[in-house]
Amino acid sequence: MEQIDYIKDSLDIKDPNITFEKEFDKFSTHKVFYAKLDYDAPQCSSCQEKMAKYDFQKPCKIPYLEMVGYKVLIRLKKRRFKCKSCGKMAVAKTSLVRENHQIPNIVNLKITEKLMSREAMSNIASDLAISVSTVYRQLNRFESKTDLNWLPENMS
Ligand SMILES: [Zn+2]
Repeated sequence: MEQIDYIKDSLDIKDPNITFEKEFDKFSTHKVFYAKLDYDAPQCSSCQEKMAKYDFQKPCKIPYLEMVGYKVLIRLKKRRFKCKSCGKMAVAKTSLVRENHQIPNIVNLKITEKLMSREAMSNIASDLAISVSTVYRQLNRFESKTDLNWLPENMS
């Protein structure tokens, strides 16, 4: 198996439109992987013409789940598309993160799991290398999706 597939596979990333570069940076506490998101130009959402590939966005930083003791950061470059007839721009979408968000779904699941096992928010944040406000946001999202009965009695 090529190294490139190996990285994607070990991070359990399923989106076929994401490709990892062979190179990554290793620091004493974390690893940074570089990837890009690209696919054929879609139809324009406002005029229905076919869009064309444009440039890549500045890479966004995506905190990912820890890997053998290393915190993992993915720098993902997303393809931009431009409509030739109306000039509308669009950014490539991925199943890895929700639109306009930087926290991968897999990390949000992990936050929920940790909240349910009643870990302190500050511990969750430092374990997952994210901010406490990210943990709060996920808590709010989770609460609004379910009724509040999920909280153990001694917490409510
Ligand atoms: Zn258009």
